Amino acid sequence: MAPRPREKQNLPSLPTGPLEENEDVITEKIPDNCYDPDDRPLQIVWRNVVIFIVLHLVGLYGIYCCFLTAKWTTVFYGVLLYHLGAFGITGGAHRLWAHRSYKAKWPLKLILVICQTLAHQNSAIEWSRDHRVHHKFQETDADPHNAKRGFFFSHMGWLLCKKHQEVKNKGKGIDMSDLYAEPLLRLQHKYYMILMPLICFILPTVIPMMLWDETFLNAYSVNILRYICSLHATWLVNSAAHMWGSKPYDKYIMAVENRFVSMFAIGEGWHNYHHTFPWDYKAAEFGRINLSLFIINCFAKIGWAYDLKTVSKEMIQKRDLIRNRVKRTGDGTHPIWGWGDKDQSQADYDESVILYKS
Ligand SMILES: [Zn+2]
Ligand SMILES: [Zn+2]
Repeated sequence: MAPRPREKQNLPSLPTGPLEENEDVITEKIPDNCYDPDDRPLQIVWRNVVIFIVLHLVGLYGIYCCFLTAKWTTVFYGVLLYHLGAFGITGGAHRLWAHRSYKAKWPLKLILVICQTLAHQNSAIEWSRDHRVHHKFQETDADPHNAKRGFFFSHMGWLLCKKHQEVKNKGKGIDMSDLYAEPLLRLQHKYYMILMPLICFILPTVIPMMLWDETFLNAYSVNILRYICSLHATWLVNSAAHMWGSKPYDKYIMAVENRFVSMFAIGEGWHNYHHTFPWDYKAAEFGRINLSLFIINCFAKIGWAYDLKTVSKEMIQKRDLIRNRVKRTGDGTHPIWGWGDKDQSQADYDESVILYKS
């Protein structure tokens, strides 16, 4: 392995905050290139490469089925499952569990855990750990899908090779006790290899065959197409929404505002806002395309979602002023993974608005 550049070995912290949960913040000017990804060769996991190639080939066949052989009911059913799975990720794994941006009563948690299993992107606990590490150490070697390694790596390449040692090291330092305290999540995590095949693959294939006499091949390949599309929707947030778009809230990070990704990922493409205010349940300002926000608000109306944390307008303007004056590099601010992170500032608590308070 090539030795790391000297400044990389010596610098303990991110430009925007500490790498270790307990490290002190450093305030001196940091060289622009010190957090470039290291150049060691990636170790490819061939098993995953083969699995993804096969899934994509079946998904391509699923497109053919959608237009030529499958019943329209099967196609609509696939679209419905796509949205249910997507909400399991955005409303569940992402905004509820990874960021704790709102709270949910048990019926909503149950719906979310089923939908999140339908999307099969690992258990909610695993998903949230990866995502908290991504926010806390964004664009460093500790970021699981470091966008500095390019579009393909941040999109799906990171799943085709072994995790960087830094991801593992920093992942161990992330507090996950809140999620392990949830019996439903512990249950999902423990029995994931039984629940996932059943909910993501077997039931979605069997139901169209039983209820409207669909053939196995049509039902199976349209479901795989649905699964592949939902994977790419999430992956686009890690790739395109870290590359192409505007940065109205924080110009010193790679995350951007991307309308296309928001349409595909039901409201998760407003990523510059989201990385600046990761504990905001809207994950965007009001008035943006945001289906997930609409659904969470519906659940809030019936009392199943509550304590919705959000940013006041004044706070956004204030942040803007601060960002314009102080270069984020070396300014001592801490990136945080969401509501309750030990580095969250008192101002965040004081100036945020909590809707549907318990
Ligand atoms: Zn991101
Ligand atoms: Zn996030």
